[in-house]
Amino acid sequence: VNADSGAPTIFDKIIAKEIPSSIVYEDEKVLAFRDIDPQAPVHVLVIPKFRDGLTQLGKAEARHGEILGQLLYAAKIVAEKEGILDGFRVVINNGPEACQSVYHLHLHVLGGRQMKWPPG
Ligand code: 5GP
Repeated sequence: VNADSGAPTIFDKIIAKEIPSSIVYEDEKVLAFRDIDPQAPVHVLVIPKFRDGLTQLGKAEARHGEILGQLLYAAKIVAEKEGILDGFRVVINNGPEACQSVYHLHLHVLGGRQMKWPPG
């Protein structure tokens, strides 16, 4: 199980476009790209371009309020672009017990199929 080492992650290379990704939405602060191992017909990751200590949501501080709001709003833009506004799920896995594997905060935007609750 991965832990939060604070080291750079694969997402830095995706942001720098050193490794390719399928970008769905991008602005000054936020990047959204398709998950390489999709768990639903639509599975997009929404990340801050500047990690600024946000390896995981559990590290959030008051100064992160603005970017956290921008990420959530970007999730809505992604859902709209992907045509799943009628039903989509936003997930943040925080820490090893939640199976977080990449320590650069990311929102999973999932949709395009019937979701179950609880997710398990
Ligand atoms: P976590 O498990 O940390 O919540 O989610 C990390 C996600 O990043 C996983 O769903 C995984 O499939 C995705 N991922 C890991 N490496 C890459 C990559 O190189 N490219 C893309 N597009 N997604 C990745």
